Amino acid sequence: MTNAICDNIDRIKQEIPSTTRLIAVSKQASPAAIRTAYTTGVRDFAENRLQDALSKQEKLQDLSDICWHFIGHIQSKKAKKIITHFDWIHSVDSLKLAQRLDRLSAELGLSPKVCLQVKVLSDPDKYGWHPSELLADLPVLDRCEHLQIRGLMTILPWGLSAEQTLSAFQSVKSLADQIQQQSWSFLKMEELSMGMSGDYKLAVRAGATMIRPGRIIFGSN
Ligand SMILES: *Cc1c(COP(=O)(O)O)cnc(C)c1O
Repeated sequence: MTNAICDNIDRIKQEIPSTTRLIAVSKQASPAAIRTAYTTGVRDFAENRLQDALSKQEKLQDLSDICWHFIGHIQSKKAKKIITHFDWIHSVDSLKLAQRLDRLSAELGLSPKVCLQVKVLSDPDKYGWHPSELLADLPVLDRCEHLQIRGLMTILPWGLSAEQTLSAFQSVKSLADQIQQQSWSFLKMEELSMGMSGDYKLAVRAGATMIRPGRIIFGSN
């Protein structure tokens, strides 16, 4: 089991450029499994449920250089704790949430790094901005100066072919490029957080800078 986790990480690392950040999605992994992954050099771990994450973070306090990423939908009452306990928030999915996080970050004296969650294919089951809505909201987002807006994040709908998957990731990349070409005071489009266990290779081909595999590292339970 121990070796399986290390082997899985080694295999993924061989398949991606060394500049692509491997974020191990540990939402289904125990603290012990996270420790094993840590021994391979992985320092980025992602969780999608606050309570589970806090309990794991407490048990892993000695691994003080872990960078924690939040990737789940954020209920407003949990926003403060998420800002406090995570270095990155990938799942900022509405203007209202961004403004709330900005206000709370100012109060807390923190400036979390965030990605804006977009959906380039319409999917009623997923949160996030449609590209045209995002473009319209950007001027206001750019005034959220307590957030370090660093890029886009996407989760694709289930059941796409490889071509559809690649093309959807490429749409996210072009959207980021389009945004980057305009001039902003604060926001930057340096990161593209996309690609999970089944599609991270396609995401890397389309320009992902951060991939988020879970099951293929830790197994499915
Ligand atoms: C669970 C999850 C992942 C990882 O998915 P796997 O299929 O386990 O690789 C990546 N991103 C988000 C937002 C997730 O919720």
